[in-house]
Amino acid sequence: MLLSRPLRISDFMRPLEFEKIKKFALGKPTPFLILDLKKIAQNYDELAENFPTAKIFYALKANPNQQVLKTLAKKGSNFDAATIFEIKKLLGLGIPPERISFGNTIKKEIDIEFAYRKGVRIFVTDSVNDLQKIGRRAPGSKIFFRLITEGSGADWPLSRKFGAHPDMIYDLIVKAKKIGLTPFGISFHVGSQQRHIGQWDNSIAQVKYLFSIAKREGINLKAINLGGGFPTNYLQPTQKLKIYAREIKRFLKKNFGTKMPEIFVEPGRMIAGDAGVLVSEVITVARKSATSEIEWVFLDIGKFGGLIETTDEAIKYPIFAEKRLRNLQEVVLAGPTCDSVDVLYENFKYRLPANLREGDRIYFFSAGAYTTSYSAIEFNGIPPLQEYILPN
Ligand SMILES: *Cc1c(COP(=O)(O)O)cnc(C)c1O
Repeated sequence: MLLSRPLRISDFMRPLEFEKIKKFALGKPTPFLILDLKKIAQNYDELAENFPTAKIFYALKANPNQQVLKTLAKKGSNFDAATIFEIKKLLGLGIPPERISFGNTIKKEIDIEFAYRKGVRIFVTDSVNDLQKIGRRAPGSKIFFRLITEGSGADWPLSRKFGAHPDMIYDLIVKAKKIGLTPFGISFHVGSQQRHIGQWDNSIAQVKYLFSIAKREGINLKAINLGGGFPTNYLQPTQKLKIYAREIKRFLKKNFGTKMPEIFVEPGRMIAGDAGVLVSEVITVARKSATSEIEWVFLDIGKFGGLIETTDEAIKYPIFAEKRLRNLQEVVLAGPTCDSVDVLYENFKYRLPANLREGDRIYFFSAGAYTTSYSAIEFNGIPPLQEYILPN
């Protein structure tokens, strides 16, 4: 990836907004994440406006902060949970079980029973074993069958681990009905931060095929779950959400015409990503030899502090130094822990001010998703990533 010109803050945030964030961050010990709930609400509204007929299920693994969940619940959002712990958290906030789906295809039988007892009635499956467990513990529930996708085009693919081939899905649909469940719809996830909108086309076409062969068995599937994969604003620009929505709606129309199924979407990153700014500090700057051109900049946050998505440099955050200098140089960015995997960016060279020193603040934009929830609890004794809500 080549960037033709230096990054500008205004490409990602209004400069006044950034001033507000910097002011709030002043004097607080780093590292920490600042979350803007207004932005969470705006992102939800934007998605709802672009998919006016869809039911939105926020995938809370992206950012499970209570305030985020409350903000979305107030907006009318539903929630996709992966574990009983997430389900308990949602119920504890007063969110009714009718607004919760159990979306993980990897579930203990005892957890399925727990969810069912609490009133959850939507489950997702992709294997015979899991389906049988749901059949035993959650009779009559609505079942989504998860189709496998190849994940290409995504910055953070989820391929291979989840979903099954259409032939297997067909068998599961038939079996589900036999064991007293309600075959309800087909789901898929094209991979997170998906850049190729055409990936939805591929999966929607397969869904259409499954709808028609299920019908021959007398089974009327009712819903399609388009998953997550909607983008947030990282270094490399994507199309606008409006374009994603326009294209996806075109694919749906092409396949289903006037017999449109119920539409579900499960955004995570798109809701939380650009609502968070991560504030960190330079611990030290070093060169590996006297003649080395490249400076290593060690920050007080790294992979274990929550930046796991820098693995293979997959997610490239917009990174800004507080020091504003014209004279920029390429650096290696690394984290603070005593593990050699704790290097953030070495192949891709960020350009930061040439005179960076210890104590200088570094801001990671669009860091609201998949950071606090990933942060380790005590590696090298470092506490989990602190999170603040920006006062409005
Ligand atoms: C993680 C996840 C999502 C959210 O994906 P994003 O790409 O962050 O929007 C949605 N659905 C399921 C089943 C997931 O596991």
